[in-house]
Amino acid sequence: SNGVDRELRAPICCILGHVDAGKTKLLDCIRRSNVQGGEAGGITQQIGATYLPVENIRERTSLKAVATIKVPGLLVIDTPGHQSFSNMRLRGSSLCDIAVVVVDITRGLEKQTIESLDLLKHRNVGFIVALNKVDRLHGWKTCPNAPIAKALKNQSEDVQSEFKWRVTEVVTQLKENGFNAALYYENKKMKEVVNIVPTSAVSAEGIPDLLLLLVRWVPEIMMDRLTYVNNVECTVLEVNEDKDFGTTIDVVLINGALSKGDRIVVCTKQGPVTTNIRYLLTPYPMKELKAKGVYKHHEELKAAQGVKIAVRGLRHAIAGTALIVVKPGDDLERAEAAAVQEISNANSLINEDERGESDDGTAIQEISTIKTCKEGVYVQASSLGTLEAIIEHLKTLSLDIPVGGCNLGPVHKQDVMKATAMLKRKEEYAAILAFGVKVMPEAFDLAAESGVKIFMAHTVYKLVDSFTDHIKKLKE
Ligand code: GDP
Ligand code: MG
Repeated sequence: SNGVDRELRAPICCILGHVDAGKTKLLDCIRRSNVQGGEAGGITQQIGATYLPVENIRERTSLKAVATIKVPGLLVIDTPGHQSFSNMRLRGSSLCDIAVVVVDITRGLEKQTIESLDLLKHRNVGFIVALNKVDRLHGWKTCPNAPIAKALKNQSEDVQSEFKWRVTEVVTQLKENGFNAALYYENKKMKEVVNIVPTSAVSAEGIPDLLLLLVRWVPEIMMDRLTYVNNVECTVLEVNEDKDFGTTIDVVLINGALSKGDRIVVCTKQGPVTTNIRYLLTPYPMKELKAKGVYKHHEELKAAQGVKIAVRGLRHAIAGTALIVVKPGDDLERAEAAAVQEISNANSLINEDERGESDDGTAIQEISTIKTCKEGVYVQASSLGTLEAIIEHLKTLSLDIPVGGCNLGPVHKQDVMKATAMLKRKEEYAAILAFGVKVMPEAFDLAAESGVKIFMAHTVYKLVDSFTDHIKKLKE
C-alpha cells in the first residue's frame, strides 16, 4: 500500500470505565508497575502519561507477527478523568487516538461505562472494550500473561459456557447503547464493529491481545492520523513547581518535535505567555524506574510522548490548551492570537460546565469522583494521578486509613480549616498529607495554632509511612 514508507508516531490511548472496573489495575498491569506492591518509582515519576516502547510490548507478547508493528511504541494517558481529556473538544482533533473502556465481566455495563461511551461517541473517539476480571469467573484457572485464546482453551466447559453467556450479555447491552460489538478474534468487520478483548488485570491474561490491538490494529485503521508530521501539536496536562527545575509544564506531545530552547507560547489565565523551553525532560524508561525522581534530559523529543518542560516565569497555565511553538521565522503575533483564541475557548468551556479551578490551573472537578468519608485525613497533591496513588496506598494498608477530603495544588489556609473539623471528630485524622505541593505560610501558622499536623515527604511511601508511624504512636 502507499503507507509503507510513512513514519508513524505512537498511538495515544486512554483508559475509561466505571469505578472499580479495574482501570488503575489494568494500567498498572500494562506498564507492569505495582503501585499497591510498593514500587514507589512508578508514582513519583508520573507525568500524566506512560510510554511503552515497542520492544517492551514485543517482549511481553508471545503472539506471532509482532514484526509487523509499525509504530515506535504506545503512549497511555495515566489519568483518564483528567481535565485535558474533558477539554478534548477544544480542538478539532482530540488528545486520545483510541480509548480502552474497561467493563467488569461480572457486572456488565454500569453507569459510568455508559457515560464514557457517550463521551466517546460525542467526540468521535474509537474504542476497544476490555472485558476485565475474567479470572473472577467461577472456577477459572489462571494462565498468567497468556493470550486470551490460550487461556480460554485451558478452562473447563462450565467456565467456557459462563464466559460465553456473559459476553453475549455485554454485547447485548452495548447494542442497547447503540454499538455493535464482538469478541475481537471473531470480529470480521473490525472497522465497524467494536472489538472486545477479555482481560484480567490481575493475572494479565488477554493483556498481550490488548497491547497488540493497540499497536497493530489501531495504526492500520488510522494510518493518516498517526503519520508523523513536523507541525507541533501539544496539549498541556498540568503545571507543577519542581524543587529542582522550578516551574514545569507536563504536556502530551501529540505530533511534531520539541527542542530545548524552543520559543513557546503558553495559554495562561492571565493571557498568552511567551517563554523558552529551559529543559526538556522525560521520566526514565520503564526498566529504569528505580532511579527515583531523576529525569532524563533531552535536546529534542519527537511525538508521541509525555514530556515535562521546565520554563521560567510562568504560572496558571490552563490544562487542556495547546502549547504553541514559535520556530524562527514564524509570526509571533499570530501564535499569540491563536493562544488568545484557545484561552477564550477554554474559559467558555469552564463557565459552561461550572468547573472549579485550583491554583495551578488544573480543574478540580474530577476530584469530586474520589470517594471520601466523614472522618478521615486530608490529602493534597500536585496531580490527580499522585492523589489517587496516595489514596490507593492508604486504603491498602492494614490500618485502612480513610480519606476525609482532598485537593490539588498548594496547601492554603482553607485546606487547614477543613482539616480542623477532624479535631473534634477524630483527632488522629486532623492531618494533611501533602505531596509535591507548597504549603503557604498562613497555612503553616494556622496548622500550628490549631493542632492540625502537616506531613510532607519526597515519596508517596515515605509520606504515608510517616503518617502511619504517627497514628501508631498515638495508639500506643
Ligand atoms: P478502578 O476504580 O476502575 O481504577 O478499579 P481498580 O483498578 O482500583 O480495581 C478495583 C478492584 O478490582 C481492586 O480491588 C482490584 O484489585 C480489583 N481488580 C481489578 N482488575 C481485576 C481483575 O482483572 N481481576 C480481579 N480478580 N480483580 C481485579
Ligand atoms: Mg482507579
